[in-house]
Amino acid sequence: MDRGPPPSFNTDPVEAGTDVVSTVETEPVYNYKGWIDSKPSGMQCSKHGAYCFLCDNIVLDDGAGAAEGGGEEDEANSIREDVVAINNYITIMVEQDKSAQHIVEGVYNYYNKRVREKIVDYVHPVTGEIVPTPRWTQETIVNHIMFSNNPTWSRMFGSACTMMLRGLVLKANHATIDTESGRIIPDAAESLCKFIERHDKHVKEQLLIAELIEKSRTRRGVGHIGKSSR
Ligand SMILES: [Zn+2]
Repeated sequence: MDRGPPPSFNTDPVEAGTDVVSTVETEPVYNYKGWIDSKPSGMQCSKHGAYCFLCDNIVLDDGAGAAEGGGEEDEANSIREDVVAINNYITIMVEQDKSAQHIVEGVYNYYNKRVREKIVDYVHPVTGEIVPTPRWTQETIVNHIMFSNNPTWSRMFGSACTMMLRGLVLKANHATIDTESGRIIPDAAESLCKFIERHDKHVKEQLLIAELIEKSRTRRGVGHIGKSSR
């Protein structure tokens, strides 16, 4: 088959004095203005108009209702109860160190079975369209929890980081001995030791944070921190 001429690449060296950085298009790691842009940007739940039930229905800590689920009072109360139930569920599951996948599936199923049909007049922030029974995706749910400032919920991110570091330790472990000679590969051994140190340091810090949260909760005499999610 004739594949035509090979593709040409621009191999011109960058001219002296050219600002190399300015030639690379970049985007922020965290786009705190994600609601303005209609393009996918940032990793938080509010990116590019993704629907997030918890962001769209805020319940204040004193129980005052800022729920926007519907015009009727009963409906608004019902949605308020769902927000509180989901927030409490996430808090309890995170405290029990359940995996992110387990927590997100629980929230996703609760929303689909008990909440979704009540959301009838969601207005898309970018298009202005009314979207009845909007889909709250697992990706949006996990991003809502991962980017939450709630100190208890932050433990889910901490647990994910622990697993990432464990993955690095185990991978490095498998790359440390030369199979032919049976000798240690010094650079690989060095990496393995560094990953183990990082893992242990991270785990100690997580325990310290958990203790601080517990002390703060005891001092304030509350069962769970943060009924609101942010
Ligand atoms: Zn959200």
